[in-house]
Formats: sequence, C-alpha cells, structure tokens
Amino acid sequence: MLNFVPWRHIAKWQCIGCGNCCKLYSVVLNFPEWLKISQIFGAEKTVVGLNKLFIKRVDDGSCVFLCNLAGNYFCGLQNMKPVACKLWPFKILSEPKYGNPNQALFNYRGKKLFIYADTMCQGLRYGPPSWEFTSLVLQEFADLALGNCRVQRNTTRTLSNGVRRFNF
Ligand code: SF4
Ligand code: SF4
Repeated sequence: MLNFVPWRHIAKWQCIGCGNCCKLYSVVLNFPEWLKISQIFGAEKTVVGLNKLFIKRVDDGSCVFLCNLAGNYFCGLQNMKPVACKLWPFKILSEPKYGNPNQALFNYRGKKLFIYADTMCQGLRYGPPSWEFTSLVLQEFADLALGNCRVQRNTTRTLSNGVRRFNF
C-alpha cells in the first residue's frame, strides 16, 4: 500500500543502496526517455502499456538496469536515469494530494510546492528536518522536478570502485 509522509516529519534522507525501489516498482518513462533507451539498449528493454511507457522488469520483478557491485546496488543507466527514478522517494507536487498541506508545504524560490516521501524507502530518518535536508537535499529534488537541474549531487548515493564512481 502506498504511504506518503509530509517532508516536515523527515529529519534526513540518505540512500543506502538497498535496491528496494528498483525491485518493487515499475518505472514510467516519458517519451524522450523511452526513445533514448530504445535507441541505445533496444526497445526490448522497455514495455509499452496501454497509455504508458515503462522500463522492463526481469523475472524477480527488478528493473532490467539494476546492477550490483560487491553487494551494493547501482543504476546501470547512470546519466540516463529517468526522472521518475531521480525523484524517488519524493513526490513533488503543486497540490497537497496526500493531505497535511501545512506539513507538506515547501517554499521553492517563491513558489508553493507540496512534498511527500514514500515510506517504503529505507533511507528516511524521521524527526525535525535538518538544515542539510531542507536546504540541500529537498532543494535539489525540487530543482530536478522542475527541470532546473539534471545532475544529482545530494539526491543519490555515490559508490566508488577505485576507478569509476557510480550513482545509485
Ligand atoms: S532510494 Fe531508498 S529504497 Fe531506493 S535504494 Fe536508496 S534507500 Fe533503498
Ligand atoms: S534507478 Fe536505474 S536501476 Fe533503479 S529502477 Fe531506475 S533505471 Fe532501474
């Protein structure tokens, strides 16, 4: 069951690379994302639904691009990661769709947004929001949602194998 909590109940968020989000959910693609993935990896890595486009899931339900490095999960798409994945586990909305508007209200550059988190994420810690969470993490999630940035600095987990750095 989907369960969303307003951001004012969250002290911090840090992805621990558990991979659950890439195992439990289908990823919806916008058309440019679908086109790029189809051209580079083949349309067979995607699924065309009745009115939505998705990334293919393998037999155990995981995203076909989910990879594992020494026990740590990471995204095989890296810089091509769909925006739906970049925003997980947060919902950044223009209306308080999941209730508690005062707790969900986020002032983003003078604009009213309503932010909730999916409680399925293992990286959430609850309590009064820290400065880092509000000013760096949520700010970047809002930037990503509104198309004001594409690169993830504070909104992903970064692993290093000594040669390359992988974003979750
Ligand atoms: S975003 Fe959350 S659920 Fe997904 S891998 Fe990170 S900690 Fe796990
Ligand atoms: S983050 Fe990457 S591996 Fe995870 S669901 Fe999205 S595309 Fe798949």
